This record gives sequence, C-alpha cells and structure tokens, in this order.
Amino acid sequence: MSATENQEFISGGGVRWILTGEERASITSALGIEAHIIDHVRGNVMTRERSVCSGCGKHSGLDDLVHNAIMAGVHDGAFILKVLVDGPQSRSPAHGLQCSHCSENFDGVYDWHYIPVGHEEDH
Ligand SMILES: [Zn+2]
Repeated sequence: MSATENQEFISGGGVRWILTGEERASITSALGIEAHIIDHVRGNVMTRERSVCSGCGKHSGLDDLVHNAIMAGVHDGAFILKVLVDGPQSRSPAHGLQCSHCSENFDGVYDWHYIPVGHEEDH
C-alpha cells in the first residue's frame, strides 16, 4: 500500500488517516471491542500527513494513537473509542507518537485536526 492510499488531504485543512484493515484489527484487539463498532469509521482527520517509522517502516496510524493512549494510561478505552467514532471533542495538545509495532518514536508531534462545532466535515 502506498502512502497516498491510506490518507486523504482535506481541502479545508488536515489529512484524514484512512483506517486500513490491519489498523482496524489492531485497534479492535487493543480496545477489546468487536470489529463492527468501528466499521463505519473511515479514519480521523489529523493535523499532518502520516509519517513512516524509521525503525520498521510502518506508517503512523490511528492504531498507534490507540496503543500509545492505552500504554500511557492517560485515556481509557471508552475515551479513545469516542474520539475515533465521533472525532475530537476539543483541541488537545500535540504529542509524540510511538510506533506500536517496534516502539521507535515517529518524528515530530501529532494531533487530531479539531473542527469546531458548526463546521461539520462532509462524510
Ligand atoms: Zn516501527
């Protein structure tokens, strides 16, 4: 899969990280949920395009965000699942991202592209 097939540049700003089958499996397994719960989720819009892990070549993905949140213990599964399904509820500080496959840190910082209420993105 090329880097352009799993993301989509939004004209209004931000880049949608489109969930791949592998990422869906990783997320549902990490959260202990059934696959159908995120079937309708295409992927969240992030502030930047995906990057590639210098350790293993994995593309940064929403599965990494889920794994990082669970490992850090800062968010429970319900919180991160709500962000995946409903989008971010507020602007949050950008933070580093660790590869869920090899634990190498991706370059830079990452954040959801927060769209204030009233500016719904089209689906
Ligand atoms: Zn990696």
